[in-house]
Amino acid sequence: MATELDGKALSKKIRAELAHEAESFIASTQVRPCLATVLVGDDPASAVYVRSKRRSCERLGFESRHFPLPVETTQQSLLTLVAELNADEAVHGILIQLPLPEGMDSSVVLDAIDPRKDVDGFHPENVGLLALKKARFVSCTPKGIMRLLEESGVDPKGRRATVIGRSSIVGLPVALLLTHAHASVRIVHSRTRPEDLEAAVREAEILVVAVGRPAFVPGEWVRDGAIVIDVGINRLPTDDGKGRLVGDVDFEGASERAAAITPVPGGVGPMTIAMLMTNTLEAARLQHAS
Ligand code: NAD
Repeated sequence: MATELDGKALSKKIRAELAHEAESFIASTQVRPCLATVLVGDDPASAVYVRSKRRSCERLGFESRHFPLPVETTQQSLLTLVAELNADEAVHGILIQLPLPEGMDSSVVLDAIDPRKDVDGFHPENVGLLALKKARFVSCTPKGIMRLLEESGVDPKGRRATVIGRSSIVGLPVALLLTHAHASVRIVHSRTRPEDLEAAVREAEILVVAVGRPAFVPGEWVRDGAIVIDVGINRLPTDDGKGRLVGDVDFEGASERAAAITPVPGGVGPMTIAMLMTNTLEAARLQHAS
């Protein structure tokens, strides 16, 4: 039976360490790290994510400034707000919650964020730095995955890793980070031939799945002794109407073969928020030093 990689417990430990670091940073500089969150529209899942990011800030003694904007906000007025936040020296990190409403071009908006305040690590400058192994801000989910592996004693060096999904938020950066950590990485995606997809899963000693489809990876494909990182968050309907969260991997089946696996919820998700807090403190440090 696989060990569960408990992202919830680990993120608690990281947040406790961060609280200490933040306290001494604030005491020595009189600067309070500040994260600005921008939420356009009323998507309920996005509202939940933003709320938990803000709560994490407050628990760490960071300042949290929230900018809820109506769905009919124009891209131009969002860009104006981003410019104001860029210019505000008291704001160290800017987070625009995705997805943006239809009609907005998220790449234009994200590119407008000052890269030194880009705590999500989505700006082309930060993505480029990551590719060149000179990372400044690494996007939070891939960074959280690497930290989870590290803290669990998994060294990717020389191992065969497969990443399913090639999004710029998860799949591509995690593949880069695994490559930098000396794994032999294979990326598969929606245009991969089905037989190649299965083969890539079967060979993986480290398997990262970021697709967004429940039970996308059948348990019997998972290699004996593999480390399985399930990034997917999918809500299945339940009788009580509340829904149930599941990942992209058949958890029960995979648990019989894997050495370790992340649960959903409680695996990668909490690590993502912990890394956002790490990046926010780092942003405050960088801006204070410059
Ligand atoms: P995305 O939709 O941008 O990318 C999905 C990827 O899956 C694409 O690259 C696509 O090529 C690949 N894909 C789709 N169908 C496929 C198929 N049939 N075979 C192989 N590959 C296929 O999604 P994303 O933003 O990368 O997120 C993926 C999942 O991870 C979602 O469920 C999302 O909610 C979740 N997520 C979780 C966290 C977290 O903190 N836990 C963070 C970000 C995303």
